[in-house]
Amino acid sequence: MTKIRKPLAKYRRVVVKIGSALLVDRMDGLKTAWLDALCTDLAMLRAGGTEVLVVSSGAIALGRSVLKVLAGTLKLEESQAAAAVGQIALARAWSESLSSHGVVAGQILLTLGDTEERRRYLNARATISQLLKLGSVPIINENDTVATTEIRYGDNDRLAARVATMTGADLLVLLSDIDGLYTAPPHLDPDARFLETVDAITPEIEAMAGGAASELSRGGMRTKIDAGKIATGAGCAMIIASGKVERPLLAIGQGARSSWFAPSGSPVTARKTWIAGKLQPAGRLEIDAGAERALMAGKSLLPAGVRSVSGFFSRGDTISIVGVAGREIARGLAGYDADEARLIVGRKSAEIAAILGYVGRAAMVHRDDLVMTGAPKTRDEEKDAVDA
Ligand code: GLU
Repeated sequence: MTKIRKPLAKYRRVVVKIGSALLVDRMDGLKTAWLDALCTDLAMLRAGGTEVLVVSSGAIALGRSVLKVLAGTLKLEESQAAAAVGQIALARAWSESLSSHGVVAGQILLTLGDTEERRRYLNARATISQLLKLGSVPIINENDTVATTEIRYGDNDRLAARVATMTGADLLVLLSDIDGLYTAPPHLDPDARFLETVDAITPEIEAMAGGAASELSRGGMRTKIDAGKIATGAGCAMIIASGKVERPLLAIGQGARSSWFAPSGSPVTARKTWIAGKLQPAGRLEIDAGAERALMAGKSLLPAGVRSVSGFFSRGDTISIVGVAGREIARGLAGYDADEARLIVGRKSAEIAAILGYVGRAAMVHRDDLVMTGAPKTRDEEKDAVDA
């Protein structure tokens, strides 16, 4: 299965995750030359039309190196303080390095709820996609200054995978000091084999990464395989590669050793499957024939085509869309809270601002958030309609 290996420039949207050890040296602090070289790669990818997002670790490590006083295992409040000092320096380094390549950086700090709760998820996603639209590179990290054990990702591998799925990226690159997946820890087992491609993350593959509690796997391969499950399950390919070289993305493109994980579905399918299947609709919209035709043609649902609203839902909740035959034909994520939706039913998009007092979204359900779940009419119904 070498067909998933293709030039990075062929991907549409790429999330690159950088491990702390690549960016920060315990003694010397930030590895500026390495960062500059990486930014050359990122700028090249962007110039070729690939959208780039970065998940950068290193806040805590850099904060420790700046503060110089924190030794040994850190207490929670110490790592939060280290992150506060380190993140500001990290963001500045990214911003300066990217701007020397003519690229504008934007900082996004996420906490667990920002990807797990739908409303906040939609909000974070909207900000990130706006940044991309403006041509800038989002530099993302966990907001370690407020994250506590119960409410944190804990590792940036899984955070990067969540970012990849949230943004519909088609490739996630995990750069660290490990060059890929082996059948066993290579420093312990001379027979360990390197895996260049992984078609599916089976229990055998998971076993190669070691159990979660194993000393060797902590923050290492285990979280990378977890990230792989999240990303590939949502249709995003993943690469584990060494970042210990200068220009690591260029190196991958030139065939450097790395493990490639094949995606298991397309991003659109994965997202739409999530909307269609996993959530109980919180409300229901009945729509008219014109809106039904628009939905069939892949368009968004506008307030003008909605006849009635039932249920109590908030923006971002899944709602059921019912066609003229009285059956659900689609599901989607509400663009408005139920109360607001009731006020704008049947109204033109241009009237929304005057009714609600603010400029809302044009769509009641945007087509990106909408999936067809049933045929509007059965064949018999079509026939009856023609015969009548
Ligand atoms: N968010 C942490 C930091 O920036 C890193 C977490 C990780 O290395 O996975 O320091």
